[in-house]
Amino acid sequence: MKNMRRNTFFTIIGALVAIFLLLAFAVYRKTPFPDFFSRSFMEQGGIAEKEKKLFFSGDAPSTEQETRLRLVEPVENFAKRVFKKPFGILISPENSPISPEKFRGYHTGADAEIFPGEEKKNIFVSAVADGTVISARFAVGYGGLVVIEHEIEELIPNKTDGHNMNKIKREKIYGIYGHIRLSSVIIRPNDQVKAGDIIGVLGEAYSDDAGGERKHLHFGLFSVRNGSFVDGQGAIPDIRGYVEKKEELFQWRNPLQFF
Ligand SMILES: [Zn+2]
Repeated sequence: MKNMRRNTFFTIIGALVAIFLLLAFAVYRKTPFPDFFSRSFMEQGGIAEKEKKLFFSGDAPSTEQETRLRLVEPVENFAKRVFKKPFGILISPENSPISPEKFRGYHTGADAEIFPGEEKKNIFVSAVADGTVISARFAVGYGGLVVIEHEIEELIPNKTDGHNMNKIKREKIYGIYGHIRLSSVIIRPNDQVKAGDIIGVLGEAYSDDAGGERKHLHFGLFSVRNGSFVDGQGAIPDIRGYVEKKEELFQWRNPLQFF
């Protein structure tokens, strides 16, 4: 009886010490949950966000107050599908998550993969915002490529005017949709599209439409902000899927920021 009471006493003390240590840890971290349970991590698609942090994101620094309006997903569950080649990852045939790999350089887009069971399914690709079709054609490396000029708006809370009014910044941005089955594309240059309009389906794995690649969407966002170009050719938009130098990445936005 005495032993039992002593055991209970030590169990309670042990539990209290454990609770104290947990609280101390939580205060130390300034958050009660580890990062991987945080909302933003889950929203960004878990592993994709983690990978993104592992590799250089290449994006220009933005202020914390800047709130980007969300875009429509180019494919359903876009962020969750970015688990092989996030934006900014340095790819070479030796280190690539894809085998065999024919590309080399810093990835200018984010690749949305198919999930198991979707090999034969039509995966619809949608315009992420309103815009004007620039091209819908075959392009080396991509197979079927659709480029749309979008105008997006960003909300910037203005704390300096004393009224907390949001400023709206408009930005011209080009959506680059690669590896699309061209026979499914009915839009043509100069056509207007609305956010969410279906622009086609993904090309079949290893077909010409997929550029001989696995079935996936390469989605890039090329921006003309800063008004300067470093690609040497001055192409607008620059449709390269990879660039040689890290510094060149500043022309593209990280698509995952918008979803
Ligand atoms: Zn890609």
